[in-house]
Amino acid sequence: MSQENLNPFHIAQTQFDRAADILRLEDGMRELLKHPKRQMIVSIPVKMDDGSLAVFEGYRVQHNIARGPAKGGIRYHPDVTLDEVKALAAWMTWKCATVNLPYGGGKGGVRVNPKTLSPTELERLTRRYATEIAPIIGPDRDIPAPDVYTDAQTMAWIMDTMSMFKGHTELGVVTGKPVELGGSRGRREATARGCQFTIREACRIKGLTLDEARVVVQGYGNAGSAVARLLHEDGARLIAVSDSQGGVYNPRGLDPLAVLAVKRETGSVVNFSEAEPISNEELLELECDILIPAALENQITLQNADRIKARIIAEAANGPTTPGADRILFDKGIFVIPDILANAGGVTVSYFEWVQDLYGFFWDEAEVNARLEQIMTRAFADVYREAEKHRVDMRTGAYVLAVARVAEATRVRGIFP
Ligand code: NAD
Repeated sequence: MSQENLNPFHIAQTQFDRAADILRLEDGMRELLKHPKRQMIVSIPVKMDDGSLAVFEGYRVQHNIARGPAKGGIRYHPDVTLDEVKALAAWMTWKCATVNLPYGGGKGGVRVNPKTLSPTELERLTRRYATEIAPIIGPDRDIPAPDVYTDAQTMAWIMDTMSMFKGHTELGVVTGKPVELGGSRGRREATARGCQFTIREACRIKGLTLDEARVVVQGYGNAGSAVARLLHEDGARLIAVSDSQGGVYNPRGLDPLAVLAVKRETGSVVNFSEAEPISNEELLELECDILIPAALENQITLQNADRIKARIIAEAANGPTTPGADRILFDKGIFVIPDILANAGGVTVSYFEWVQDLYGFFWDEAEVNARLEQIMTRAFADVYREAEKHRVDMRTGAYVLAVARVAEATRVRGIFP
């Protein structure tokens, strides 16, 4: 089997190139849109609880800001690299353009295992990282949000840190904040809810009903656990879930809330007793209707794509499928809802949060969810139309739509000076 390049930034560029070929994008524009506008590498010294000093490396990348301020999460993970953050920032550019938000794309990361830090160490790390990237973030320039192993508390610390420098409270500097602190109702579940809306549309196209549909979720965190619960409410049967420690499987169905309670109590879904253990690799290859990768990149690759048996794959995670795997899945007739569409509900409600913060006027959850549904179903239809028009998969359809929008914004702005 041929080797694949699994560097996420290389993958992001390969995906971009496919759309650029279809759009016959000129060479100069290609170069411009392929590379990040700004990349910042920072060194983050943290006083540890035992009195020692630890230094962590952090990044903030702004891939493109042609259509508005950069927008994108912050990830804490021991494997974070600059190339990963560059890829995630590029995917944010294309995601915001796919759902037509007035944003560009950015992303941040710190190379740290947050599970080994105490809450006070984590707070000092977060405040110092925020201070280091402060020159380039702000409500009108770049607005971070949560990602893997960061949450509403992390965002509250960043908001407070930035506000200390300003001398006044600045709510719009980050999204995904607690509701008590300028957060939006519905933001916590927004990624999952957006994913649910796109799955409903895909089911319609594939002639599948959600009632009794067998669902498999890899990664039982913010996004994965919420999408499992929402699909369960739609009548679907959750048959397997996993996290970084492994997975559990029960063909008769798992109760998503009971699994979440065990994860919260013990730290992992593997301790859920009414199910058989299963590895993350086996879980991806289960016979099921809907497979939801909701963990990290490069899970469905040339190595296993041929053995995937799902009818629909909804990418709650960013970058779970490689370009090589995409070709195989397309040939097998598996309908992939790409990350830049499937998980765009998170950034969409982040946009609502930012709008509410800037206006100081807050909406109820029903309004948030109704507006989210409108944006997600319209974006799905736009992407599907492009995919059908060019006879390509949904990912390429989404890229064609997004790249055309960003290229057009760049053209009408012109190149300075
Ligand atoms: P999270 O930290 O809440 O959850 C991540 C989950 O994945 C955890 O349960 C963790 O145990 C599990 N995991 C980690 N490594 C794993 C592995 N090797 N195999 C299986 N499971 C593993 O993070 P999240 O916010 O839910 O993000 C998950 C994915 O969704 C990421 O790709 C992220 O970029 C994407 N995403 C999140 C949001 C959001 O709003 N939170 C929005 C868009 C996209």
